[in-house]
Amino acid sequence: LELALGKAKKETRLDFLTNLISKRGLDEDLNRAEKSYERYGIDYSIVFFDLDKFKMLNDTFGHEAGDVVLKQTGVILNQIKRDVDIVGRYGGEEFLALLPNTPLNGAKVFAQKVRSGIEEFEFLYKGERLTVTVSGGCVNRKDFSDQKSMIDGSDKLLYRAKEAGRNR
Ligand code: GH3
Ligand code: MG
Ligand code: MG
Repeated sequence: LELALGKAKKETRLDFLTNLISKRGLDEDLNRAEKSYERYGIDYSIVFFDLDKFKMLNDTFGHEAGDVVLKQTGVILNQIKRDVDIVGRYGGEEFLALLPNTPLNGAKVFAQKVRSGIEEFEFLYKGERLTVTVSGGCVNRKDFSDQKSMIDGSDKLLYRAKEAGRNR
């Protein structure tokens, strides 16, 4: 029973489609990062990613194609991140990266790697090449009074990236 419980706990931490950390797992890890920040001053950055024009991709090629893209995006994110970084699926086509001990500039470097990695990857669905891009917002904990305003801040920057033309 203990083994089964351990396995079940592990599964709720993982997102079924992308094999990334789930929203629930992310919330736990965000809490832990915040505690380390408050207690030991361990700084962290986050990047909020959202795939561009994803509704259009689903409408054009179907939901199955969308799911293939989400799955592959998970693989790319896992390849680019460092072992100590945490990347999860925050919602439908939204991903969050939690980068411990990383200043804002480091988060921007990471975000650009992800952005170009996705732009350059040859997504294929039934032999057809799909164009996929992502936008993101990078923030560092030190620039905000609490974690909630930090996450709101990354969301605002993401919105600006969308307004400014996406893929940025
Ligand atoms: P934007 O560039 O502004 O982000 O445009 P968008 O179309 O990506 O944004 P919006 O938030 O309007 O739409 C998100 C869409 O993502 C809605 C839905 O079609 C798609 N989506 C969300 N979750 C899933 C999923 O699990 N699978 C698939 N296939 N599509 C999903
Ligand atoms: Mg979205
Ligand atoms: Mg989107």
